[in-house]
Amino acid sequence: MTRAYNFNAGPAAIPLEVLQQAQEQFVDYQGAGMSIMEMSHRSTFYEQVNNETQDLMRELFQIPENYHVLLLQGGASTQFAMLPMNLLTPGKVGAYVQTGAWADKAIKEAKVIGEMAVAASTASDSFMRVPRLDEIVVPENAAYLHVTSNETIGGTQFHEFPDTGSVPLISDMSSDILSRPVDIGKFGLIYAGAQKNLGPSGVTVVIIRDDLAADSPKSIPAMLRYDTHAKAKSLYNTPPSFSVFMMKLVLQWIKGKGGVAQLDQLNRDKTGLIYDAIDGSGGFYKGCAHTDSRSIMNVTFRMANEELEKLFVKQSEAEGFVGLKGHRDVGGLRASTYNAVTLESCQALAQFMKEFQQKNG
Ligand SMILES: *Cc1c(COP(=O)(O)O)cnc(C)c1O
Repeated sequence: MTRAYNFNAGPAAIPLEVLQQAQEQFVDYQGAGMSIMEMSHRSTFYEQVNNETQDLMRELFQIPENYHVLLLQGGASTQFAMLPMNLLTPGKVGAYVQTGAWADKAIKEAKVIGEMAVAASTASDSFMRVPRLDEIVVPENAAYLHVTSNETIGGTQFHEFPDTGSVPLISDMSSDILSRPVDIGKFGLIYAGAQKNLGPSGVTVVIIRDDLAADSPKSIPAMLRYDTHAKAKSLYNTPPSFSVFMMKLVLQWIKGKGGVAQLDQLNRDKTGLIYDAIDGSGGFYKGCAHTDSRSIMNVTFRMANEELEKLFVKQSEAEGFVGLKGHRDVGGLRASTYNAVTLESCQALAQFMKEFQQKNG
C-alpha cells in the first residue's frame, strides 16, 4: 500500500503507527476475547482507557491540577452552545473575538443563548489576520472572552494570547490543540473536536478550570452541563469508546515523539517548507494570511486565477496528494499540516509546488 500525502482539513491524517497498533488490537483487546468496542464502558478495561487518555492529555499539555479533562460528544459545534449555556449568566455578556468562519459560528450560537459582544474583529481585513492584543476590548460585564486560536479555513493563528485578568479566557483549539505548548493557566476553558490533531471524529475534549465546572445553571439538561461530566469523570453516559481508545493511541504516539515541544518544532519545519515555496515563488503563489498571523496548521494560498488552481488540484491528486483544495466558502488552496502529517509529505508538496511553477509559471 502507498499512503497518500494527506493534507485533509478534518477528519485528517492519523499516524500510520497508530492505525497499525489499532489494527493489531482491533479484534482481541488485551486478550479479552472481544474488541474494545464490544465491552461495557463500566469494565476495568475501558475505565483504564478513559483514565489513561485523560492522564496523558494532562501530562502532554501540562494541564494544572485544578482543571478537569472532559471527553464529550457532539463536536466543537456543540461546545459553541454548551459554553454560553453554562457560563453566560444573566446580566453578563459573552465577549467574542471575530476572526473568521469558526468564530462566527460560535458567535451565532451565543446569540441564541444570551447577550453577545464583539471584543475585536478582523472582518474588514477579510479575516486574513488575527487582531493585535491591543485591539481587543473586553466589556466590564463579560462572562468570558472567546477566541479561536486557529482559524482552520482562513489559515490564521494567534501566536500570543490576551491577559484577561479575572475574566475567563476561552479558546476553540479544534485545529491546533497539542501542536504547540500553551500556558493553560491563562485559560478558563479550552475545547477541541478530536478529528484534526487528536485522532478520529467522535470525541470532543474540554479542559475546564474547576470553579467553572462547579455548578452549571439548574435550567440546563444533564447532558449539556459541564458539572455532570466533571463529576462523572466523563462516564455519565456511554462514551464514544472507540474514538477515545484511538485518541489514547495518538497521545501515546505524541509522547513517543518527545512531546508537544518537539511537535511544535516539527510543525514549524513542516509549514516552513510550504511557506518558503510560496514566498520564494516570486508571486506565482500568494499566501492568504498576513505574515505575522500565519497558521502553522493550515497553510492557505492562491494563484493567479481559478483555472490554474483547478489544474494544481487535479495534477496534485494524480501525484498522490489529497485535500489541497481550499474550503468551499473561500476557494483557493489549503494544506493542513496537523501533527500526524509527516515532514516527508510536506517536502513532497514543496517539491511539487516548485515543479508545477516551472511548468505553468
Ligand atoms: C473543525 C472545527 C470546528 C468544528 O468541529 P466539529 O467537531 O465538526 O463540530 C470548530 N472549530 C474549529 C476551529 C474547527 O477547526
